[in-house]
Amino acid sequence: MASFTLFHLSITIIFLHVLVSATPSSSLSEQLSIPTHFLDFAKKSETFDWMVKIRRKIHEYPELLYEEYKTSELIRAELDKLGISYKHPVAETGVIGYIGTGNAPFVALRADMDALPMQEMVEWEHKSKVPGKMHACGHDAHVTMLLGAAKILKHHEKDIQGTIVLVFQPAEEGGAGAKRIIESGALENVSAIFGLHVMPYIRVGEVASRSGAMMAASGRFEATITGKGGHAAIPQHSVDPILAASNVIISLQHLVSRESDPLDSQVVTVAKFQGGDAFNVIPDSVTIGGTFRAFSKESFNHLKQRIEEVIVGQAAVQRCNATVDFLEEKKPFYPANINDGELHKHFQNVAGSLLGTDKVIEKGPVMAAEDFAFYQEVIPGYFFLLGMQNDSSEKLPLLHTPHFRVNEDALPYGAALHASLSATYLLKHQHDVSIVEGKYHDEL
Ligand SMILES: [Zn+2]
Ligand SMILES: [Zn+2]
Repeated sequence: MASFTLFHLSITIIFLHVLVSATPSSSLSEQLSIPTHFLDFAKKSETFDWMVKIRRKIHEYPELLYEEYKTSELIRAELDKLGISYKHPVAETGVIGYIGTGNAPFVALRADMDALPMQEMVEWEHKSKVPGKMHACGHDAHVTMLLGAAKILKHHEKDIQGTIVLVFQPAEEGGAGAKRIIESGALENVSAIFGLHVMPYIRVGEVASRSGAMMAASGRFEATITGKGGHAAIPQHSVDPILAASNVIISLQHLVSRESDPLDSQVVTVAKFQGGDAFNVIPDSVTIGGTFRAFSKESFNHLKQRIEEVIVGQAAVQRCNATVDFLEEKKPFYPANINDGELHKHFQNVAGSLLGTDKVIEKGPVMAAEDFAFYQEVIPGYFFLLGMQNDSSEKLPLLHTPHFRVNEDALPYGAALHASLSATYLLKHQHDVSIVEGKYHDEL
């Protein structure tokens, strides 16, 4: 590891330019404390091998939402070894770590910890040892990269001009763990948050993101359509819920195709249809379920209202009753993922300097959802995708598939980006402290 002096010497002109233009009033010595060699630090075999070991250990013992006890324990053990203080438990299994001065400004880095209820189909030495559970969304890599960033940042703690808050969050996969973290008050006083997600189709060493809307708001619905069961050959004595549910599904497809602005992206998908278990029996009831997505709150709420109206109304046309449940208690709606414009510029500067500007890809929005959006509702936040595809022609399997696998070569990039984004953010905003403190004084 380079000494502190060498660290100062390893400054690039690009970074200096970025900071000089961003904070014209900061002193030269402050500008010189920019961590340009974080990537080298993360790639060193000592750091890399340590990260690989952690990633594989988490991968072997995947845990589902709000049950990330072993993962949480492992995180705390590593933070203890690094000498990093933390709060626990937060939101059940969450861990909040602190690096830096302990004072404002505060910037947060987030990693999600949960796995998925699916069986791993990749045959390798460190495959999941828990039947029916798998890290198929790469959250094992996310935890590892945040620990990697923690190691880098702790090593340079005296350079940090404020406090970096490490957020190890439970339950991203449907459990809205981010919402529980916010409700715990762990992010009070934090002025920005960064998060990342590994992405198989982007090349390793590359990142992708955009300013503004990146991912959609997401909700679920489940409806039970009830008729009257009977003999399949004597339909006149029954009220057929299967036919009613089929018409409901067709009518739901009109919401996006006929009722919404074609330039305002929305999705309604019925992905679940359960009813009947005999060839010659009309069942009493049918259950359907699905997801709906939109970017604006207005469109999202309108879809929700119309989904209920269409299901109940169309079922009634077929002489059936319908009840609709949006399952918000168990699966809260996820807001849209909106990246802050100023943080986008910061990301482009930092990632461009670290990786090369040609490695920073502008990405179109997608209708997928991410609970990182909860943070972005309350503080400026920035979410980006981290490439994993290597030079081999074999394409990495997609997220949420039983063949999904992480390319561990991506780990140093994620760790270094986390560390650089947060450390340089604090450098840029160290002079905002008096304003922040003043504000709190006024409130008191
Ligand atoms: Zn996922
Ligand atoms: Zn994920």
